[in-house]
Order: sequence, then C-alpha cells, then structure tokens
Amino acid sequence: MKQSLSNFGLSETHKLQAIIHNTCQRCGAIIQQDWIDDYFRLYCKDCEAFGRIVEGDVLFRYHRPLIKKNHLLKLEFELSNEQIKASQYLLNSVISQHIGYLYAVCGAGKTEILYETIFHFLQKNQVICFSIPRTDVVIELSKRLTKIFPNTVIKPLYNKEKDDSLADIVVSTVHQLIQYYEEFDLLILDEADAFPYKSNDLLTRLVKRALKPDGAFIMMSATYENHELKAIDKKNLPIYQLPARYHQHQLDTFTIIYVDEVMKMNQSITIHNDILQWIISKLNASIQLMLFVPTIAIGTLLEQSLKRHGLNCLNVSSVDHHRAMKINQFRANKTPILITTTLLERGITIKGVHIGIIDASHVVFNRHTLIQIAGRVGRHKASPSGEIVLFTRRMNIEIKAAKKYIQLMNKEAYNRGLINNDL
Ligand SMILES: [Zn+2]
Repeated sequence: MKQSLSNFGLSETHKLQAIIHNTCQRCGAIIQQDWIDDYFRLYCKDCEAFGRIVEGDVLFRYHRPLIKKNHLLKLEFELSNEQIKASQYLLNSVISQHIGYLYAVCGAGKTEILYETIFHFLQKNQVICFSIPRTDVVIELSKRLTKIFPNTVIKPLYNKEKDDSLADIVVSTVHQLIQYYEEFDLLILDEADAFPYKSNDLLTRLVKRALKPDGAFIMMSATYENHELKAIDKKNLPIYQLPARYHQHQLDTFTIIYVDEVMKMNQSITIHNDILQWIISKLNASIQLMLFVPTIAIGTLLEQSLKRHGLNCLNVSSVDHHRAMKINQFRANKTPILITTTLLERGITIKGVHIGIIDASHVVFNRHTLIQIAGRVGRHKASPSGEIVLFTRRMNIEIKAAKKYIQLMNKEAYNRGLINNDL
C-alpha cells in the first residue's frame, strides 16, 4: 500500500492515526518523550524531513492500481556460467526461504544475476522494488531495466520524481520507501554498504516496512562487514559469494605513491609534481582518468591547478547541477580527465579508465569507498584491467583493509577456477 498524510480522493483509502502508542505509523519510530512541538504535541523526529507527523494527524493508506500484462525478458547478452549459477541460487532461495544475499565484487554483473528472479515475480503479477541509496544510480538502472523488460512499467523514484503510477517495478532511493507500507512482493536492496543506508536505523526500517509480510528480500553488496557475515551464517541464511568479474580477469590492486602533501599552498596553489607527472604520462598514452578527491574544495583547487598547466578537465560533485552533462561528456571521451568526489564511487562504467585517488588516507576514503573506486577500472571485457594509484601521505588501516579484500577475492576466485589464466 501507499501511504501519505493527504487523501488522494481514492475510495478504498484506509485511515489511521499517524502516531499510535508512541509509535510513528509512517516510519515505525518509537517517539521519544522530548519530541514535543511548540503546542506540546508529540511528533516524529525521525521522518520529519518528509513533512512533520504530529500526534492527532491522520495517515492515509491505499492500494496502487496495476494492470496485468504479459511481461517479457529480453537479455542483451548471455550470462556467464557463474552468473547463471548465482541467478539460480538466488531464485531458489527467495522461493524457498523468502530471502537471499549476494556478495559479489564490483563488476561481477550483479544486476544481470537478478533478471530471472525479477521475471519470476513479474509473471505472477507481483510488485517489485529495486532500492539503491543513490539517485544517479536509480536513474541509470531504471533506463537499463526498461530495455531488459520492454513490456513492463518501470518507474524511477527519487526526491524530484514521485510518479509510480502503474509501475510493476519501482526503482527507488531508500528514502522514497517512506511512501510505502507492505507494498512489495520482492524488494531488492542494492549497494547495502553505501552511504546513506549503512548504519541508518530509519532507512533500515523503511526497507522492512515497504516489504509485504510474506514478501521476498534480496540484499546485494560488494562488501559485507564481518559481523554481518557471521549473523547470516549463524542464522543459516542463503548467501552466494561471487569473487570474480564476469570476464574472468582478476581484480586490479592499488599502486601506492607516497607524497608529503597533495597541493602546495604557495601564491598559486599547485599540485604535487609526482601527481602531475603521473597524470601527464596517462594523457600521453591517451588514457582517460578519473581523479577522486576527498572534498569539493580540493576538487576545485585541483581543477584550477590542472587548467593552469593547460590540461583539459571536468569537475563534478553532489552540488553540481550540470554533473549529468559533464559525465556524459567524459563518457563520450570528449575530455580526458574527470575530477570527482566520492559521488562517483559506484554505478559508473567508463571503458579503459584509470584511477587516481588524491589524498587517499583522508577520512572519507574508508575501505568500502576504496574498494568501490577500485572497482571502476577494468569493467569491460575488451579492457579488463587498469591502474589505480593512491597518492597518500601515509598508510592507514582502511587502505590496508581494502588491499586485503582485493587479494582475498582474487585468491578465492583462483581457488574456484573463476579466473582464466589464458586470457
Ligand atoms: Zn516517523
């Protein structure tokens, strides 16, 4: 069901108090005693960003109309043997246990692995949600699924796009799940290790509440924490590990270059010479570069510095309204360098790209972020590897952990015969 604070004039609307027994009926939060407004009424602080819910408010829930149709699965290319195995495993898991976990490295082809499961639910005229923390990925994935399921109504949902009418598949940010209560028969949570989902109680609740009580849940991630894996193991829940990419080449690991400081703050700010020389060497070899920076401010300084050296580059961040256009320009190889914050740590595939991480020991580059950034290289079969250079003042525990992860995944992939040495 959908839920909102206003009545849409639908006849079959179910009305309920928004706060019952100190519990918010929209997000499930337990209302604390000090969550009191100027009129001494209790309100829900947890979901306030979606419009404040106050004691005495009424919440409306109603069924979304859907039209039965003949769905079609149109694969663009065949899955690898390992992808087929993973696909069968997850399908069987959700049918028999209503739950499944996929633990797959970046570039394993996670989305493709789910097509059969999605199709299975569609054929039963059931409703599906594909939920991802990031808006940019929501839009991309929605377009991609539309090609694979041409007869299916698929709608993206994010802060500026709220139309889900007649959608059999909703591709949604996790935040937008606030609109649903026990709506979906299948809910797939992708990139469960990404900000802002990770360790966010509100978002965790929204995912659970959006799923029907007998619905099936799939969680996908490239990196699970040890305690998460232990919990899955302890409960004997089905998890499929895919340590190799679909093209059977190993994951590239980091090259570390120590620099005392990334920028020299003279009269005109200049980039460290070692970084500059590495960038120039890549450009001379006609290689496109993504340069990850820890902050928007450093991105701006880097852009100015590179331009002073006569280098053509684009700079994107979450506050940049032209980012989609710039990314498309980079994708079309019209510019050789794209400077970005961790905004683009996932969901972007550029053939043949190499990566530089500037100030890699900065606190924003945790192990999950570093693993995702490293996962941007070598995603194409025709260009299966690339350089990932960390420019850093020092080694830290996050860099070590990310490096170890890549080594372990490669080892596991070798042991299972998923890396082809003849390639
Ligand atoms: Zn709430």
